[in-house]
Amino acid sequence: MPANLRSVKIGVMEKNTPLTICNTQIHPGERITIAVPTPEIYTCAPMHMPIHIIHGKYAGPKLLICAAIHGDEINGISIIERLLNLRLLKKLRGTLIAVPVINIFGLINQSRLLPDMYDLTTSFGKNEHGSFVGRLAHLLETEILNQATHCVDLHTGEPHRHSLPQIQTNLDHPECQTMAECFGAPLAIHTESKRGLLWQLYQDSPIPTVIYEGGEALRLDELTIRTGVKGITRMMRHLGMLKETVASEVKPLTVRGTSSCWAPTSGLCKLKQRVGAYVKKGTVIADISDPFGSVQTTQITSPTDGLIISHNNLPLVNEGEAVFEIAEYHTSEKMIEHMESWQHQEHS
Ligand SMILES: [Zn+2]
Repeated sequence: MPANLRSVKIGVMEKNTPLTICNTQIHPGERITIAVPTPEIYTCAPMHMPIHIIHGKYAGPKLLICAAIHGDEINGISIIERLLNLRLLKKLRGTLIAVPVINIFGLINQSRLLPDMYDLTTSFGKNEHGSFVGRLAHLLETEILNQATHCVDLHTGEPHRHSLPQIQTNLDHPECQTMAECFGAPLAIHTESKRGLLWQLYQDSPIPTVIYEGGEALRLDELTIRTGVKGITRMMRHLGMLKETVASEVKPLTVRGTSSCWAPTSGLCKLKQRVGAYVKKGTVIADISDPFGSVQTTQITSPTDGLIISHNNLPLVNEGEAVFEIAEYHTSEKMIEHMESWQHQEHS
């Protein structure tokens, strides 16, 4: 175990102790919702960020699940809603801290950004008396993030961009790698990106974190939501927080690099393949035609053998736009079997 990783006792049934979050004390066995005031906007209308806390009778990990850091990404809100309704949480060991919407302003405005047009994921560690985004980041760091021993940060693809359900984490970190493996998503992508909550948590405090991303901004995607709910419960089982869930039989395909397919020309883009499809190098994956009626079309072909992990859903593209993202993989039978196993697991 790395020296900076917090140790979590799983085998000993130790009674929990009271927890204080945002000046509210929560006793073992208690379940509460608190509304934390966020920095104000110019209308002076108060904004609050609801936080659900389930504090188990027995001690264990403190898992933070957060969603809508980008306010237009709503699959995570639905994942937390379903998670909080699971009866098995009555036997929770440790503590679940769930924040369905971190970026309340972005949710109202259907935007990933905050009022000062900054992205919260790149703004941790800033001055508490500085920008709007820095103030919100400071509030999160000092009141919520510092309570957690583990974190799952829920995201979707960007607007008009659909992503295959996937875990993004630092796969060289043993605990992050185990969290990614037990989640049961079909794909785990290694990242050491300096962007994002993941990096901030890992750099500044030793909280193993995975980002779960799937679907598209401003859309609900059932398969992404199901995989997210089941994945979190599987991970909680791994952490010793739950006993009643079934381990995933699907181990994710681990990826350390992907290939982008750019639109070679502008026009009307018709996809021939979609997320989850396995394609061979040279396969035609989209046609781009002239929106003004010319019969000539330009084809986009796959640059590699692999799995399509995201694509543009907007049929209007400008040259140079990324239309597909493909994870390189050369054994088609194994990949097709892997995707079928995942779909069967999430639908059962
Ligand atoms: Zn996001």
